Amino acid sequence: MLVAFLMRANVDLSAYGLSPVVFGPAFLVLVAAAVIFSFANWRCPACNGYLGRGINPKFCSKCGTELR
Ligand SMILES: [Zn+2]
Repeated sequence: MLVAFLMRANVDLSAYGLSPVVFGPAFLVLVAAAVIFSFANWRCPACNGYLGRGINPKFCSKCGTELR
């Protein structure tokens, strides 16, 4: 899934006339930072439990709190 995302990102960069060879490494660092950031924030506001792998969970699997 991440690979597919990166491949699509490379296509987007090429479309803007930017070389993936130059921007690839920098972009990878950016993506890694974004992933780490999202994992750090992917927690229930009520119980601070990790929300799992769902893209958009409606309820916390730990405490059942409704999520927006
Ligand atoms: Zn919770």
